Order: sequence, then structure tokens, then C-alpha cells
Amino acid sequence: MNQCIFCGIAAGDIPAEITHEDEHFVAFRDIAPKAPVHLVIIPRRHVSSLASVGELSDAERAGMTLFLADVADRAGLGDAGYRVVTNHGPNSRQSVFHLHWHVLGGALLSDSM
Ligand code: AMP
Repeated sequence: MNQCIFCGIAAGDIPAEITHEDEHFVAFRDIAPKAPVHLVIIPRRHVSSLASVGELSDAERAGMTLFLADVADRAGLGDAGYRVVTNHGPNSRQSVFHLHWHVLGGALLSDSM
């Protein structure tokens, strides 16, 4: 998956502002933020979207939501709140085909998803 930009970030080959990482996941700041705080969370293992989540291990699947919530807390979003979004496929406008979660916060967000 040499062509995948998020694999490059996970490998440290492509620069990114990483806020937190562990054995299975990496969180970094979105390059084109849609909110005052906009983090992207990825599994290190390449899977193309949520539709392929079955390709992750049980440990990765179990750890994903805990990692998301922990990253949001560490970013100071826990009390005021935040939104978590993942895109799959053309109708969602997914543009990077490596499973990722957007964590958006830092202000009152739009009431439209
Ligand atoms: P999606 O449209 O759901 O596939 O979201 C992909 C996200 O990745 C977009 O919000 C982009 O701004 C973000 N993005 C793309 N390249 C980079 C990069 N090199 N570093 C950080 N974020 C990126």
C-alpha cells in the first residue's frame, strides 16, 4: 500500500501533526480542518473503509472506539463535546481510501451532518 497517504503517515514517511499513537492507531490533525479541532484517526493496518472493518483483528476492532474517545479527551474536547464521522464510498465523498474517523470539535458545530 505504498500509494496510500495514510499508510505513509502511519509509517512516518509522510509528515503529519500526530497528537497520539499506539500499537494499533494513529491520530493526527487534518490538513484542511473543518472545525477548530479536526483530528483524523486511523488504524495502522490498511483497510479501505468501514465496510472492510472485518479485515481488522479483534484487538483492533475492540480498541478503536476506546482510542477515539481517549484522543478526543486528550484534545480537551470531552466536556464541551465533539462529533465523530467516517465516510465510506462515493456518496459520502470519501477521498482517502484508508479507514479513518474524523473527530470534530472546539466550537458549536453545524446542525447538519
Ligand atoms: P475523507 O473525505 O473522509 O476521505 O477525509 C479525508 C481527510 O483527510 C480530509 O479531511 C483531508 O483534509 C485529510 N487529509 C488528506 N491528506 C492529509 C494529510 N497529508 N494530512 C492530514 N490530513 C489529510
